[in-house]
Amino acid sequence: MQQKNITIVGAGLVGSLLSIYLAKRGHKVNIYERRHDMRKEVMSAGRSINLALSDRGLLALEKVGLADAIKEISIPMHGRYIHNADGTHAYQPYGKEGQFINSVSRATLNMKLMDLAEEHGIEIHFNHKCLEVNWKQNAADFCISEEEDLTVCYDVLFGADGAFSSVRLEHQLHHQKFDYNQYYIDCGYKELTIPPTASGDFALEVNALHIWPRKDYMMIALPNLDKTFTCTLFFPFEGELSFSKLDTQEKAAAFFEQTFPDAVPLMPDYVNEFFHNPTSSLVTVKCFPWVREDKFALIGDAAHAIVPFFGQGMNCGFEDCRILDELIEANGDDWTKILHDYQTLRKPDADAIADLAVNNFTEMRERTADPKFLLQKKIEAKLHNKYPEQWIPAYSQVTFSPYIRYSEALLRGQKQEAIMQGIMQLPDIESTWESEEVEQMILEKLN
Ligand SMILES: Cc1cc2nc3c(=O)[nH]c(=O)nc-3n(C[C@H](O)[C@H](O)[C@H](O)COP(=O)(O)OP(=O)(O)OC[C@H]3O[C@@H](n4cnc5c(N)ncnc54)[C@H](O)[C@@H]3O)c2cc1C
Repeated sequence: MQQKNITIVGAGLVGSLLSIYLAKRGHKVNIYERRHDMRKEVMSAGRSINLALSDRGLLALEKVGLADAIKEISIPMHGRYIHNADGTHAYQPYGKEGQFINSVSRATLNMKLMDLAEEHGIEIHFNHKCLEVNWKQNAADFCISEEEDLTVCYDVLFGADGAFSSVRLEHQLHHQKFDYNQYYIDCGYKELTIPPTASGDFALEVNALHIWPRKDYMMIALPNLDKTFTCTLFFPFEGELSFSKLDTQEKAAAFFEQTFPDAVPLMPDYVNEFFHNPTSSLVTVKCFPWVREDKFALIGDAAHAIVPFFGQGMNCGFEDCRILDELIEANGDDWTKILHDYQTLRKPDADAIADLAVNNFTEMRERTADPKFLLQKKIEAKLHNKYPEQWIPAYSQVTFSPYIRYSEALLRGQKQEAIMQGIMQLPDIESTWESEEVEQMILEKLN
């Protein structure tokens, strides 16, 4: 194998993991990161405070021997705990017994991946902001301070600099036919905190992802190791009920007390947080091409930013790293083929998870509170138990089946959903759902 001099822009979650994969293959890897070293001065990593890590992400971590280290800093969440508007609760397991997703702190995970990258001999250059790429000379320019710039030469450059990637913009500006789409949804998000109880315990069931579905919007909460929960309110920017309308402390308090009555007593500082924490937007980015010959590729959010409603953005970026590594294994030094095949394989999957993620917003905020939807999930779980290969609920395909491609999960999920829509129309489905007749009807449609 010929050693390559590889430059990665961005020491986020994906750039850090990618560096370890490449170093393990014997390449010389340098990462250039715009921010300062967050391990020296703890601060918000900039986006959500915690993330759901599921089997795709874990598989990618496992392949480089990191899964156990990361599991140690994660909290398992076995299902959705639904807080209905009428004060009732419901619990939906995510999958079969023993299947769960993991709540992990973004900052802790990122810092751990940086530590592990350095242990693999990778140098991370902080406070280096990528400004420009000279495609003809294989060189990238970084700003270090107002007075100082640095030019770095490379054999291969990876743009892992997130949803608003400057490397992607450079690529776009100097590529004749570059397709680019970005879509903002009309909801933004704001994070709030549920602290531990007076006795120092978690204030809610710890091993669950909590959801307050309210049709046009929702709040969710994920547990943290320090026994807090981070709540995220996904809420319209504009309109009758929106961030723009909740413009005084009284209005915000009245809204929360009416809408999330069981959460309010658990959030002593929520009004203050509501006005001090940022309101952030949610974007999907689709673009093409992701690569140039044998010398450049976009990866992670820089290639495919998606909305967070399937909890897959990071998982998908980690999967990019695993698939790329398999292609390096298969193609040796042929980087043109490695990068070409990487793009060919990953682009349809990234597009599929982007669409699945947007659709899951409706499911989470609207359908999880609907008894008919809960029944549908029960029927699907029963089918999955009995016919584990034939019927895999869409959520399980995406979350617990890392060898099913996202594009396949999208197609199979659509087919199954169409079948279930028909079944849920049966007049007595509430009483007949466990019958042999209903099961046969589903299997016939499936086959
Ligand atoms: C609210 C929210 C909740 C989410 N929840 C989940 C979840 O539960 N599960 C999940 O899998 N995903 C989730 N995601 C998605 C996940 O956060 C992203 O997919 C993931 O962070 C992508 O990693 P990345 O390394 O590609 O990009 P980033 O994490 O954005 O990292 C990019 C890095 O590049 C650096 N950088 C940027 N520009 C430059 C430059 N010009 N020069 C040098 N460095 C630069 C940045 O400082 C940063 O360190 C969520 C996202 C949001 C917004």
